[in-house]
Amino acid sequence: MSNSNEHNEVQASNFIRNIVMEDLKSGKHSSIVTRFPPEPNGYLHIGHAKAICLNFGLAKEFNGKCHLRFDDTNPVKEDTEYIESIKESVKWLGFDWCQDEYYTSDYFEQLYEWAEYLIVNGKAYVDDLSAEEIQSYRGTLTEPGKESPFRNRTVDENLDLFRRMRKGEFPDGAKVLRAKIDMASPNINFRDPVIYRILHATHPHAGDKWCIYPMYDFAHGQSDAIEGITHSVCTLEFESHRPLYDWFLDNLPVKSRPHQYEFARLNLTYTVMSKRKLLQLVKDGDVAGWDDPRMPTLAGLRRRGFTPEAVRNFCHIIGVGRSDSWIDIGILEEAVREDLNDRAPRVMAVLEPLKLVIENYPDDLHEELSIEYHPQKPELGSRKVAFGKELYIERSDFQEVPEEGFKRLTLNGEVRLRKAYIIKCTGVEKDSAGNIILIRCSYDPDTKSGLPGSKKKVKGTIHWVDAKSAISSEIRLYDRLLSVVSPSGDDWKKDLNPDSIKILTDCKLEQSLEKAVAEEHFQFERQGYFCVDMRDSKPGKPVFNRTVTLKDSWGK
Ligand code: ATP
Ligand code: MG
Repeated sequence: MSNSNEHNEVQASNFIRNIVMEDLKSGKHSSIVTRFPPEPNGYLHIGHAKAICLNFGLAKEFNGKCHLRFDDTNPVKEDTEYIESIKESVKWLGFDWCQDEYYTSDYFEQLYEWAEYLIVNGKAYVDDLSAEEIQSYRGTLTEPGKESPFRNRTVDENLDLFRRMRKGEFPDGAKVLRAKIDMASPNINFRDPVIYRILHATHPHAGDKWCIYPMYDFAHGQSDAIEGITHSVCTLEFESHRPLYDWFLDNLPVKSRPHQYEFARLNLTYTVMSKRKLLQLVKDGDVAGWDDPRMPTLAGLRRRGFTPEAVRNFCHIIGVGRSDSWIDIGILEEAVREDLNDRAPRVMAVLEPLKLVIENYPDDLHEELSIEYHPQKPELGSRKVAFGKELYIERSDFQEVPEEGFKRLTLNGEVRLRKAYIIKCTGVEKDSAGNIILIRCSYDPDTKSGLPGSKKKVKGTIHWVDAKSAISSEIRLYDRLLSVVSPSGDDWKKDLNPDSIKILTDCKLEQSLEKAVAEEHFQFERQGYFCVDMRDSKPGKPVFNRTVTLKDSWGK
């Protein structure tokens, strides 16, 4: 796996890490095995990153192993495209499962045998009730459930029916296999949970071998036991399933005994995280795909320009606890700023160009200024930047009649061109509609950056690009997916941020950016951090995505 991602971060202390340390110290386990068990029914998102950092992080810190297990029990929603994207995202985040790639579907035969084992021991039965009837027989939190009329079938009859379910003799939904536990249990998960259902569907990994599929609760703990998982970490919504997790392990001849621990899932403001909602955005065309840079998926964040280091650091900062809470997306944005601030080369790009002519600059003169890539990192080197009579500046850096406090270029005003000269605006040219189309200036050769004359003070400094050598490029300004802190209700899509993408097609960039390669990061001076789009860029023709602005200006 890629070495560029080498990292040795130790996890912040958390209760699961404490349990692991205790278990190693007491000798309960001599080494640990964790797992990350995604269902391949969508791309991984930033919430998954929390679970990945926790599981792989524990294994790494304590010299254990972390398995990547595809929890593929529902063929209807699963796809090999998702399997591939999940692997790619885990690798990108910097983790390595080595040889330990597993599929719950590879355990179907063993799970089937264990289902028969329960039947033989009078602990499971085939039920003919419909899904709706099972639901209505289940009772509520305050009332016990009602027993199914099929609950007392004989072992032989149950075995025969279950085998015929496997053979494909019944249509979808005609029968299910249920564990026979306790319809009056205060824990609803104990009221004879369904453990197998009929689904005539092709499975992305197992093909057409099966037409009955185990439910999550019947598959998960047993898969953990098969793999010798010691600490099975999942999110809090499974807490009430833990007694059932243990019940199956108590009632089956498993060889090892995993333990489930629960932690709080990540909720992030200004976005949606459930795969169901993300899939809806993709299907409805609200975004350009699972890796659209506005998506909270790892593929989307990557394409947007978030780095694995920033995402891992974010997971480190938010920590792992047991109380559900919302994390401000600003924390994630700050994490990527912090990372890129250290290593992104600074370059100049004009997003909304306005032409400027320096009238007293010699026609035939073309200078090359040597400008360092990073003020604090001389090791990043420098590049040559062309300077000439015609330049582009940012449209917003000029105001003919300045508003109060405006410190950039105005009519008759002076400003410094970054790393170059001080110029004075002597006039403007307008089109017939009154829009400014050209700025006329004069410059003072003695004010060149680095010369003694350069000590002259002006109020503002603006960035610029030489017109003759500039490259034209498309830049996409991305912003938050939602315009509200958290989505609510079924019509949550009404809160999609209409300004989550703004495409600028004729930006002017310094020539050095011609060589920028996919996924390279830059700071465009005064604008923000940008990354070369990995899909739409062509050699010599990069397209840039704005990862994040330089400062958090959201809502201000
Ligand atoms: P979603 O609700 O987004 O569809 P899921 O829980 O169904 O997610 P899985 O593929 O089953 O997704 O999850 C794999 C692992 O990632 C599980 O252990 C799950 O607990 C964990 N996980 C999923 N979402 C989050 C989250 N928001 N925060 C932390 N861990 C998460
Ligand atoms: Mg799930």
